[in-house]
Amino acid sequence: MRHTFAETVETDLQEKLQRPSAHQLRRLYEVNDEAGRKRATRQGLWIAVIVYILFSTNDLLLIPDVAGSAIAARVMLGTLALIVLETQIYMNVGIKWLDATSAAALVLGFAVWLIPAVHTSHAQSLSYFMVFGTIFMMGANLFFSFRFRLSVMASSAVLMTFLLSLTAFWPGDMYVLAFGTFYISCFVFTSYVNWKLNRERFNVFLNAQEARTQQKEATLRGEALLRMSSTDYLTGLENRRAVDERLKNYWNGWRNDGTGFAAILADVDFFKKYNDAYGHQEGDRCLTEVASAIRDAIEPFQGSIGRYGGEEFIILSPVSDRQGVIALAETIRQTVEKLGILHEERRDGTAIVTVSVGGAFTREHIGAKLEKIIHEADRALYSAKAIGRNCVRVFDPADPESSDESENIAALLKIAIKQDLVSLVYQPILDLTPSRQIASVEALMRLTTLDDIAIPPSLFIPIAERTGTILDLGRWALRTVCTDLLVDNHVECASVNVSPIQLKTPGFAASVAAVLYETGISGNRLAFEITEGLEMEMHSDVLRCISDLKTLGIRIWLDDFGTGFAGLSWLRLIEFDTVKIDRSFLHDSNTLRGRTMLKDIISLIRHRGPKILVEGVETEDQLQLLRDLKIDAVQGYHVGRPVPRESFQSKTIAAGVTAGPQLARRTPGFRA
Ligand code: C2E
Ligand code: MG
Ligand code: MG
Repeated sequence: MRHTFAETVETDLQEKLQRPSAHQLRRLYEVNDEAGRKRATRQGLWIAVIVYILFSTNDLLLIPDVAGSAIAARVMLGTLALIVLETQIYMNVGIKWLDATSAAALVLGFAVWLIPAVHTSHAQSLSYFMVFGTIFMMGANLFFSFRFRLSVMASSAVLMTFLLSLTAFWPGDMYVLAFGTFYISCFVFTSYVNWKLNRERFNVFLNAQEARTQQKEATLRGEALLRMSSTDYLTGLENRRAVDERLKNYWNGWRNDGTGFAAILADVDFFKKYNDAYGHQEGDRCLTEVASAIRDAIEPFQGSIGRYGGEEFIILSPVSDRQGVIALAETIRQTVEKLGILHEERRDGTAIVTVSVGGAFTREHIGAKLEKIIHEADRALYSAKAIGRNCVRVFDPADPESSDESENIAALLKIAIKQDLVSLVYQPILDLTPSRQIASVEALMRLTTLDDIAIPPSLFIPIAERTGTILDLGRWALRTVCTDLLVDNHVECASVNVSPIQLKTPGFAASVAAVLYETGISGNRLAFEITEGLEMEMHSDVLRCISDLKTLGIRIWLDDFGTGFAGLSWLRLIEFDTVKIDRSFLHDSNTLRGRTMLKDIISLIRHRGPKILVEGVETEDQLQLLRDLKIDAVQGYHVGRPVPRESFQSKTIAAGVTAGPQLARRTPGFRA
């Protein structure tokens, strides 16, 4: 059975907080505050011995005839007791031995003094003097902090000594009755007080023990809470909060003393598909396995790993040179690959779980913002995903995709529609079929900076895709094509480039339907060009979206066929209306090999059924070749360059039938 992280913490806490049994408590009490008690006993015995010896004065006054031997007994016994005590302290024996020595000293102190004293001829003085015998009893029960049993043993020994002394010294029945009862009651009362004192001490000890336990519990709970608030509940790794904290420390180290570090993001490839195929429980298990494998693998790099998002992990390490970062990133990638967790649903030729890894490290010009390094790692990760996943990319500032320019472009794209920085140009498509029915144009997006400098689509489209602005731009492009050209029948059909990001976005087909409804354009006057490009993940959502678009009457074209890896599987999965062969194949056709290749591709597509359009026709020879090859349509500078809408808006086509070459002849920038 799996436990939540909170449950695990609670069990752990209870284990650490197990309360001692009564027996264990007793034993703890016995050794409780041993040092303090040793100090008190030592102090007590020294005071007792000094007072004991000072009482020699009384010996001289009350029993002068035996004072010599009594004083000698006092000095000898006192000195012996202190020697034994100090030796014990030197040998670091337990408190119970010090207490035993003190108790013995008390009893012997009385007994040893009594031996000469009972021989005095001053019987009356001695009988008074005997009252001090109870002092020894009080010493055992009240002055020292003996445990109850030792106190009773010592004080009863004093009582016995007194009673024994009566055999040698009998001052009279009344005296014995009075002193005897005095001794006995003194014994009873002081023993009782000792018992109460000991109970009180034990209670104080218990309370202190309880207070300590509570404090320990509070501390442990605090620690556990802190751990919980910084731990990812599923994998047990540091969570985002803790990672941010660690990152801040690394960053401060870098700013203050130049200690560099690397930030690496690892993202499980096609994880959504894994979850869909195997269920969330398996998904959780997969993440946990991947997490702990990476954690072990990065130990030699002194790395730490945290969970950064759903299926994204972040690794921080003091490695700070490019080769080191590449090695660490590659270790992470290989570690996950070696796990060999089955993932048969990804359909990209790999059947196991893998990660894409993007890394960045501190460089001289990294800037003053901590987020920058994560941003760079994120970009590297994006590019690792884009080049086919299960690979490693380390941020390279020399890469144009990574430059600050791309930051500026990303910012520009956000304001592009509002500030009129974005526009569409249209490139004619020439129909070569004998019927020459359809006149069509391809809409191509243009972006300029605020100072009117053109930015090529090859630069801004990937950035728009990465930052998500492609969604707004795509919608804008579709609406513009409809209102610029189609509403007033300036052209019969238009094709619009659509990014896979748009197709993957829930509700895309509905938003297209809304534009068609708003502008009153029928879907069959539109074609969407999907590039067989890098984002080749064929989601079930994408397939559903394509089928919805087809329901709207929109034709689906496959763009730039032959440039990616997925073209063939796409051809298998989707019924394209037209396939556009990438211009590179036409440009290579001046060699025999190139021409054979072009022919092979054409026959391959023909076999599948869709119409064929060849892009990049730049010369009459190329056009002739394509005519010979019975290509359905062509596009290229030789046929017409991309031109602004005005070039088309001067003409209106009779809806339905318009011959391609006618259109070509009538349209500026359009040559047939
Ligand atoms: P694409 O869809 O394959 O567009 C054709 C590209 O080839 C255009 O470049 C066009 O100007 C260029 N071209 C046309 N004829 C010739 C020729 O004879 N020779 C040569 N050398 N080039 C020719 P452009 O406009 O720079 O667009 C580049 C790519 O940007 C497009 O390739 C398309 O993938 C993307 N793109 C353009 N507009 C949009 C858009 O609105 N949305 C999306 N998602 N992508 C777009
Ligand atoms: Mg295109
Ligand atoms: Mg193309």
